Amino acid sequence: MPTATNQHRPAIAVLTSGGDAPGMNAVVRAVVRTAIGAGAEVYAVFEGLQGLVDGGDRIRRFEWRSVGSVLHRGGTVIGTARSTDFRTRDGRRRAAQHLLERGIDRLVVVGGDGSLTGTDVFRAGWPELLAELVEAGTVPAEIAARHGHLVIAGVVGSIDNDMVGTDMTVGADTALHRILEAIDALASTAASHQRSFVVEVMGRHCGYLALMAAIAGGADYVLIPENPPAEGWEDDMCTRLREGRAAGRRESIVVVAEGATDRDGRAITSTQVRDVLADRLGEDVRVTILGHVQRGGAPSAYDRWMPTLLGHAAALEVVQAGPDHEPQLIGVRDNRVYRTPLMDAVERTRQIPQLIEAGRYREAMAARGSSFTDMVEVFDRIARAHEAPSGGARIAVLHGGGLAPGMNTAVRAAVRFGQSRGHTMLGVTGSFLGLVDGRIDELAWGDVDGWVGLGGAELGTRRRMPTMEQYYAVSRALENYDIDALLVVGGHWAYQAVYEMHVERDRYPGFSIPVICLPATIDNNLPGWETTIGADTALNEIVAGVDRLKQSAMASQRAFVVEVMGRYCGYLALLGALCTGAERVYLHEEGVTLADLSQDVERMVASFRAGRRFHLAIRNESASEGYTTDVMCRLFAEESQGEFDVRPMVLGHLQQGGNPTPFDRVHATRLAAYCVDWLSAQISAGTSQWAFVGSDHGRPTAEPIRAMADLVDSALARPREQWWLALRPVMAALATEPDDR
Ligand code: ADP
Repeated sequence: MPTATNQHRPAIAVLTSGGDAPGMNAVVRAVVRTAIGAGAEVYAVFEGLQGLVDGGDRIRRFEWRSVGSVLHRGGTVIGTARSTDFRTRDGRRRAAQHLLERGIDRLVVVGGDGSLTGTDVFRAGWPELLAELVEAGTVPAEIAARHGHLVIAGVVGSIDNDMVGTDMTVGADTALHRILEAIDALASTAASHQRSFVVEVMGRHCGYLALMAAIAGGADYVLIPENPPAEGWEDDMCTRLREGRAAGRRESIVVVAEGATDRDGRAITSTQVRDVLADRLGEDVRVTILGHVQRGGAPSAYDRWMPTLLGHAAALEVVQAGPDHEPQLIGVRDNRVYRTPLMDAVERTRQIPQLIEAGRYREAMAARGSSFTDMVEVFDRIARAHEAPSGGARIAVLHGGGLAPGMNTAVRAAVRFGQSRGHTMLGVTGSFLGLVDGRIDELAWGDVDGWVGLGGAELGTRRRMPTMEQYYAVSRALENYDIDALLVVGGHWAYQAVYEMHVERDRYPGFSIPVICLPATIDNNLPGWETTIGADTALNEIVAGVDRLKQSAMASQRAFVVEVMGRYCGYLALLGALCTGAERVYLHEEGVTLADLSQDVERMVASFRAGRRFHLAIRNESASEGYTTDVMCRLFAEESQGEFDVRPMVLGHLQQGGNPTPFDRVHATRLAAYCVDWLSAQISAGTSQWAFVGSDHGRPTAEPIRAMADLVDSALARPREQWWLALRPVMAALATEPDDR
C-alpha cells in the first residue's frame, strides 16, 4: 500500500534506459549526490523503464555511498533495458503505482529519444493513470492528490551524438576514443603493408562518429547518411585514394557510417566499398566493422565531467520544479549546461531521418549545426592530395611555449588546408629562434602524413622567445623567406611573444604581415578559445593515471595528493577532480591556508574512522608556494592519528606526453583551417592584423592580439576571467557528503 513517509521531502528517481552509453554512471552519481545535498530522497530504478513497471527491489533507495567508485566504469551500473510493457497503458499504470508507493513524483531519465519520448508519454498521462489507480482502490485519493504531477528531466545518453538541442550526448566522446584506438591501430598495420582498410562505425541516421573519426583518424574518404555522395562517388573515392598514394601516403582508410546511402537512398555497405576499391585499385582491402566495442570501456574524461554537470543540473531541475514545470532536456552548448524543452528537441531530432529519407540532405545537414557542416568541408579539403601550389601566398607555421599534444595535428591540417587554397606552406623548426636561424622548409601534403594522431611536436617547440634585440633578426627572416603570413601554434609564451612583438611592430618592416595564434597548451590558460588544444589529452592522461592509482590503493587506508600541471591555472586540477571523483581540489585561484588544511585533515580522520578506505586530493602544481605537495602530505600524515597513510603522486610530464585525443585532433583541425582561412582573407584584403583565436558561441573568431593586455593577468599567465571556475559549486556539491561538510 502507498505510504507517505516523505511528506515534506521531495522524492526523485533516476534511471538509465535504451542503449547503454559510457558516462551514464557519472550522470547517475551526480543526480544522486546533488539530490541528497538538496534535501531530497533518491531512488535508483534498475533496468530502465522496465524497472518502473516491475517495482519491488528494482526501485531502490540510494544513499551517498551507493554511487561511490562508479565514475570510471563503462556501461550503466543500474542497468538498462528495452521495455515493451512500458509501451502499454497497463504497464505505465503499474509504473505510476510503484512510484507513488514511494512518494516519487520526479524523474531524471538518461536515454535516447525513445526513452525520453516514453517518459514524456508517461508524464502526460500521469493524471489519468492516477485517476484509474484511485478508481480501482489501489492508491488512496489523498496520495494521488499530493502527487498530481510528474516532473521529468532528460539527459541524452547515446553514443551516436544524434540529438538536436545538445552539442554532445553522453557517451559519444568515449565512442570516438574507441574508434580512434581502432583506426590508429589499423593505420599502423595498413601503412606497413600499403594496404587499404574500410572501417564501419555506428550511426544509422547520424554521421557524427564517422565524420569526426575520419578527421581525427586521418582517413581518406568518409560516407555519412546526412551527406550522401554524388553519382560517380566510386570514381571520386578511387581517384582520391590513388592521388593520396602518389603523394606519399602508405595507407588508405575509408570510414563508413552504418547508415550511409547514395543520393537515391540505396545503402552503401562496407563490403560494397571494399569491392569497389579491390576491383578498381587492384589492392588488398580489408573491412573492419567495429560494432559493440564502440559502446564499451571506461568513459573518457569528457564523458565524466560533462555528464557530471548534466546530472547535477538535472537533479536541481527536478528537485526545484513546481507543478507547471515544462519537461526539459538538460544538454550542453559551448561547454555550458543548456536547457531546451524536451519534446521540442526530440521532435527536431526525429525530423532528421525523415529529411534524409526524403532526400532533403541540405536541411538534414543544417539540422546538425554549422560546425558539423564546416567540418564536412574541412575534411574534404584536407583529405584530398593537392597539386603543388602556385600563385598563392607563403604561409609559415611555428610552435611556441610548452609541448601540447595536437600540435602536429594542427600543422598537418594547416599544411593541407593551406595547399587546398593554393598556398605554399612552410614549417619552421625550433620556434621563433629557428626562424632566425633559417630552419624553414616547405611542407608538402605527403610530408605531414601520419601526423594527425602523433603526440609531441615534429617542428619542435621552445619556451624561449625572442628578446627585443632579436626582433630585427626575426623581421629579416620573415622578409628573406618571403613569408606573407604567420601561424603560431602554441601556449602562453607564444601568445606573450606575439603580443610583445606587436607592440613594436611598426619598427620592423618584416612584421607587416598578418599573424594569428592558435591555442595549444595543456594548461588551458589562454584567453579566447575555451579549451586549448592539448588540454583534453592531458585530462585523459590524468584520469588514466588516477584510475590506476585508485585501484592500487583501494586495499589499504590511504590518502593521495595528486599534483597536476597547469602553472597558475587550475583547469586541469578542477576538471581532473570532477573526472576522478576527488574529495578535494587545491587551486591557486582559491589559495590554500593552514586553516583549510587542518579542517581537511580533521575531516579525513573522521571519515577514515567511519570506514573510508581512500581519499583523493588533486593539487594544482602552483596552488600554494609554501604548502607544496610534499608539505601537504607530511602535514596530513603527521595529523592522521594512525587512521591512514599519505602518498604524493606527481604526474609530471606524462600529462604532455600522450597522443592527442579525438577532441584535440578535431579541434586542432578545425582551428587550423579557420586560421589559414583568416590569414588568406587578410592577405587578399591587403591587411595585416595580429590576432589570436577567440570564440563566438563555440565558433572560432579572431581577436586582436592587443586585447591580451586587458584579458590576461600576465604575472600569473592566465586569463582574468576563467569560465570553468563556475564549475566549482558542482565539485563542492559532489565531493563531500552533507554530514561531513
Ligand atoms: P533509446 O532510448 O535509446 O532511443 P528505444 O527507442 O529502444 O531506445 O526506447 C527505449 C524504451 O523507451 C522502449 O523500450 C520503451 O519502453 C520506451 N518507449 C519508447 N517510445 C515509447 C513510446 N512512444 N511510448 C512509451 N514508451 C516508449
